[in-house]
Amino acid sequence: YAAKELKGAAVVFEPEEHATAPNRLTVLGDLRRGLEAEGELFLHYQPKITLDGERIEGVEALLRWQHPTQGLVPPGDFIPVAEGTGIILRLTERVLQMALAQQRTWLDAGHPVPVAVNLSTRCLLDAGLPDMVQRLLTEHRVPASLLRLEVTESAVMGDAARCMDVLQRLHDLGVRLSIDDFGTGYSSMAYLRRLPVDELKIDRSFVLGMCTTAQDAVLVRTAIDLGHNLGLTVVAEGVEGAEHVDALRTLGCDIAQGYHFARPMPAAQLSELLATVGTIHDTEVPAGS
Ligand code: C2E
Ligand code: MG
Ligand code: MG
Ligand code: MG
Repeated sequence: YAAKELKGAAVVFEPEEHATAPNRLTVLGDLRRGLEAEGELFLHYQPKITLDGERIEGVEALLRWQHPTQGLVPPGDFIPVAEGTGIILRLTERVLQMALAQQRTWLDAGHPVPVAVNLSTRCLLDAGLPDMVQRLLTEHRVPASLLRLEVTESAVMGDAARCMDVLQRLHDLGVRLSIDDFGTGYSSMAYLRRLPVDELKIDRSFVLGMCTTAQDAVLVRTAIDLGHNLGLTVVAEGVEGAEHVDALRTLGCDIAQGYHFARPMPAAQLSELLATVGTIHDTEVPAGS
C-alpha cells in the first residue's frame, strides 16, 4: 500500500499536473453549472454527403458550449476534461437527448435522417450505456437504426473486452456504429473485423494531405480498400476542396463530410437544407429536383 500511496502522491505533485489543475477545476465547475443552465450546451449538425450524386446521407451532431463569459468553447477544450470524470456520462446523456429530440422533429417533417453522436472512451466502459440509449430512443420514438454512434479506434483498443461487450449490446439494439478518426490508432485488420461496426471514418489529417503528400494518399486509398473489404461504408472527414472530392470519388469512397460541402450548422439551418434538398432516405422526391 505504501508504495502505491507514494506513487499516487508523486503524481499529484508533478509540476505539470499542478499547473493545469486550477484550469481543469474551473472548466469542470463551469461545466457542471452549464449542464444545469438552459441553452448553454447545444448541438450543431454537419451533413454527410454521398459522393455519387452529392445528397445528404446523414448528419453528425457536434457539441457546442456557449460559456457565459468566455464565449463559444470548442469541444476539444472541455470534452477531454469531462472525460477525466463521471461528468462525461451526464454530458453524453444530454447530447443524446438533444440529438434524438431534434431527430424526432425531422422525422415529423418527413426526413428520416440518420443522426450520429460521438461517444468517448469512458462511455464505452459504462455497462449502463446500452440501457440509457434504449430508454432515450423509446422516449423520443426514434427507430434505433436511425441512430449512429461514433467511437474512436483508440477508445476501443484501450480496454477491448469491456468495450466489445458494450458495443455488442448497442449493436443488438439496432443502433449503427462507426469507427471515427480512423488511421490515428493502431487497430489491426483482424481486430476491426471483430468489431460490430458498419462504417469507417478516415481521419481528416489524412484527407487534408491526400492531394499533396504521397503517404497520405496511400493511407486514404488503403483505408478505403480495407473498409470495403470488410463490408463497411467509408466516410472521408475534413473534405475541404474540390480536388479532394475528385480524388475520393476516383478511389471509390462512399461519403464525404467537410467544409467543402457544409460546415456544422444550427439545427434550424439544417432543417432548411433538408426541406430544400432532402435526403437519400426521403420517400418523396424533393420539390425542384
Ligand atoms: P470528430 O468527431 O472527428 O468531428 C469532426 C470535427 O471536424 C468537428 O470538429 C468538425 O467541426 C470538424 N470538421 C468538419 N469538417 C471539417 C473540415 O472540412 N475541415 C476542418 N478543419 N474541420 C472539419 P469539432 O466540432 O470541433 O469537434 C471536435 C471533436 O470533439 C470531434 O471530432 C469529437 O471527437 C469531439 N466531440 C464533438 N462533439 C462531441 C460530443 O457530443 N461528445 C463527445 N464525446 N465528443 C464530441
Ligand atoms: Mg465524430
Ligand atoms: Mg471524426
Ligand atoms: Mg476527427
